[in-house]
Amino acid sequence: MNYNINFQIAALIIVILLLYHFLTQKKLYNINARTFTYVLVLGGLYILLDLLSTLVFMNYRAEHETVILLVITIAYLFDVMLPYILYCCVCIISGEKQRKISGTSAVCTAITVVMLLLILGNIKSGWFFYFDESGTFVTGSGYIFLYIYALAYAVLVIVSAIRNRGENITRKMGIVGEFLVLEGVCMVIQMYTQRLLLTGFGLALGLVFLYLTINNPGDYVDSITGVFDKQYFDKWIEEKLDKKAEFHLIATEFYMLKQVNKVYGSSVGDQMLIQAAQGIQEITGSSQVFRITGNCFLAVAESMAEYETNKQKMEEFFRKPFELNGEKIDFPAVICGIMDGGKMKHEDVILSYIEYLASLIKNTDETVVIQSDDRILEGFHYEKEVEQFLKTAVEQDLFEVYYQPIYWNKEERYITLEALSRLRHPNMGMIPPDVFIGIAEKQGMIAQVGLLQFRRVCRFVKEHEYLMKTLKNVKFNLSPSELLKTGHIQLLINMIREYGLSPRYFQFEITETVATEYSESFCQAVEDFQKAGIGLCLDDFGSGYANLNTVLKLPFSVVKMDRSLLTGVTCDEQAAVFYRSIVMVMQNMGYHIVAEGAETKEEVDLLQTWGVDMIQGYYFSRPLPENELLKLFDKE
Ligand code: C2E
Ligand code: CA
Ligand code: CA
Repeated sequence: MNYNINFQIAALIIVILLLYHFLTQKKLYNINARTFTYVLVLGGLYILLDLLSTLVFMNYRAEHETVILLVITIAYLFDVMLPYILYCCVCIISGEKQRKISGTSAVCTAITVVMLLLILGNIKSGWFFYFDESGTFVTGSGYIFLYIYALAYAVLVIVSAIRNRGENITRKMGIVGEFLVLEGVCMVIQMYTQRLLLTGFGLALGLVFLYLTINNPGDYVDSITGVFDKQYFDKWIEEKLDKKAEFHLIATEFYMLKQVNKVYGSSVGDQMLIQAAQGIQEITGSSQVFRITGNCFLAVAESMAEYETNKQKMEEFFRKPFELNGEKIDFPAVICGIMDGGKMKHEDVILSYIEYLASLIKNTDETVVIQSDDRILEGFHYEKEVEQFLKTAVEQDLFEVYYQPIYWNKEERYITLEALSRLRHPNMGMIPPDVFIGIAEKQGMIAQVGLLQFRRVCRFVKEHEYLMKTLKNVKFNLSPSELLKTGHIQLLINMIREYGLSPRYFQFEITETVATEYSESFCQAVEDFQKAGIGLCLDDFGSGYANLNTVLKLPFSVVKMDRSLLTGVTCDEQAAVFYRSIVMVMQNMGYHIVAEGAETKEEVDLLQTWGVDMIQGYYFSRPLPENELLKLFDKE
């Protein structure tokens, strides 16, 4: 019998080219890529054997019958293996994890093994096929089972595709469907013509499609830097965590990217990122580099030794300025080292830990390395726990308000209070407000916290309105994001009305950093306060780099001198002169001055001789819970 083997040869060439291409291209060594490599190799072998067996077929000689039968048997063994392998691949790409080997897969494995044994046994039994005396290939009574077997797998694949429907999977399963149709058509043509051997060719085409869909690495490469993108990182890390594999991470965050963009233009920023990515790739010598955010890359090390050397090399690399068009530009980074990333168990945790590590480095303009250790990890877990508790606290309104009285030097009595938030954790104890307010700001919950707290303050003032005969007002802190949130100020004003209280009972404290951000929503907020007759106080004056000109245009009546300015005034003449001068200047401009953080008699004496209007500090009183505050005022 004469067969047309052209298609088989073409198929073999296609698969070899594909294999070459796939192995030499940049790709991630994950389970998908590995599975695909196996499928390619097996597919290639199958086609090769198909071709070989056709050739021996066509040159049948009785004296070589045993060899020929052997070759053909091996080819059929592959015929049986292939549907099984494809089925396994489908299970893998559709996410059915290997550990959850289902009943179906067990049955499939068993049936495939039986089929393999039967094919081997065919050499003796001739149940599937044999050669008659004239040397003609004769199909036996069992041959039909080969078709049934292949068909059963096709059905199984379709069923499993339908069962695992999902956004991502549907696309991948679509290609499996096309694969099946292609192979089916080839099989029908082959059966019909009996001459054109097309199944191998169909397989090769199917592999090309599969390659384009499942393993298109271009899908996951960051378009600017050429390293892998966040999407690929998601897949990669999921697999690593799943396998509980050991790996170490080095994250590099370029905190100056924004400035570089501003100063030199964003195309220069892009160039810097490209150079940085190349540098990291060269140092790590691997393709396992990801860009996980706009200004952060992540490199992976498999061993501790590799991790240590790479970390050190990166530090050296990023300490030197980059060169661009003959100009030297600094591109410093925070390099965060995390050993044994697998211990963190979840991708989200790893990513927020990187963010946390980077946030620990402040006020620097050179490359620094921060290495994760037990203490830092503890701090991170503490913050995470607070974050978690904060949600409950907002839901169940678990906050408290303490009030710190502020002393008026002129009449030697308390004239105002600052309301300060408190949050007590059942096990962790008091959580410092700096911590939970900061987290609430980051998590976008601060407005909710502020409203809950302000309601508490209103209720307290309403219940003890007689206090307002001696007190000028109660001061309440506003975070920048509260101030800039549209409609939030109106909610606060409405709450005052709801309790039927006078707006002059309240003064809102705003820090100098936000006062410098002269945005539209900020001006709106200030206008709202003014219209409602509510006073404003400039908080933490002298702690940042406020643009005085801007700040002083705003309608503050009170300025609070930051506690940091007070340090050293009793022993350092310079500090004392500085403090006193600012007090004088601000008073000349018509502001009332509150000195924050006075703890000792010496400090208080000095502040009083300098003519400071009011003093807030532990020397007079710590922030107090409601009942203690009431006791203090009863005594007065
Ligand atoms: P702040 O507005 O500067 O509040 C003054 C802080 O100084 C308070 O810290 C107070 O307890 C502390 N303090 C007062 N006198 C002394 C002293 O003599 N020595 C020392 N060492 N400290 C003194 P607290 O209560 O821990 O609050 C910290 C920060 O948390 C506040 O700083 C404020 O920025 C923020 N905060 C507190 N409650 C709220 C709130 O309800 N809303 C908002 N947005 N922020 C709040
Ligand atoms: Ca304050
Ligand atoms: Ca303050």
